[in-house]
Amino acid sequence: MNTRHLGIGMTSQRTRARLIERLRREGIQNPAVLETIYNTPRHIFVDEALASRAYEDTALPIGHGQTISQPYIVARMTEVLLEGGPLAKVLEVGTGCGYQAAVLARLVDHVYTVERVDAMIAQARQRFQELGLRNIRVRHGDGKDGWAQYAPYDGIIVTAAPTEIPQTLLEQLAPNGRLIAPLGAAGQQQLTLFIRKADCIEKRELEAVSFVPLRTGVH
Ligand code: SAH
Repeated sequence: MNTRHLGIGMTSQRTRARLIERLRREGIQNPAVLETIYNTPRHIFVDEALASRAYEDTALPIGHGQTISQPYIVARMTEVLLEGGPLAKVLEVGTGCGYQAAVLARLVDHVYTVERVDAMIAQARQRFQELGLRNIRVRHGDGKDGWAQYAPYDGIIVTAAPTEIPQTLLEQLAPNGRLIAPLGAAGQQQLTLFIRKADCIEKRELEAVSFVPLRTGVH
């Protein structure tokens, strides 16, 4: 790890350790998830001006009117995805700054991530490269269409909120695959888990959340 990744002061290992304690208290149990969040330098995913707040458990602006999710939510969604066992291929809808993809990349074999705002992609790619993460593929496109080329996926994580789950995404889920998404209009979103069973799709509502909306088309 280089010194920029290690961090100093408000981005130091001690500050990160406090975040992990907090996530534990909030109910995150998977030790691999906690360890990965500890080891992933969130401060390089946000603007330098916000780096000192990178290990607070809050969402932060990442430009283009978008936000990096709160660490608790990243941890929770990752933990729920992993509850079904190890994952070979995971699709993310909404790359944003790339933090969620970077966390996933250390816990699954391959991450495929789709972002509709072109301007965010180069920056995310640069961060993956800087962290030596070679198992992430990024595509510019509308994530509602998923990414057919690499389907089916063992896990799909949607990091912007649709009002209804796009059918195409459910179709790109492998047998026993898990899809997690914030579902609903602003102010009434529920984190929702879908599991593809042999003859049906099981649906479970987990908790109330607040995400930016999933939009249509590219930008
Ligand atoms: N996972 C991100 C969270 C980003 S916020 C992170 O760790 O930073 C949600 C992101 O979803 C934004 O970057 C937004 O541009 C993107 N988004 C919204 N609608 C989309 C769509 N239809 N397809 C792909 N990306 C979309």
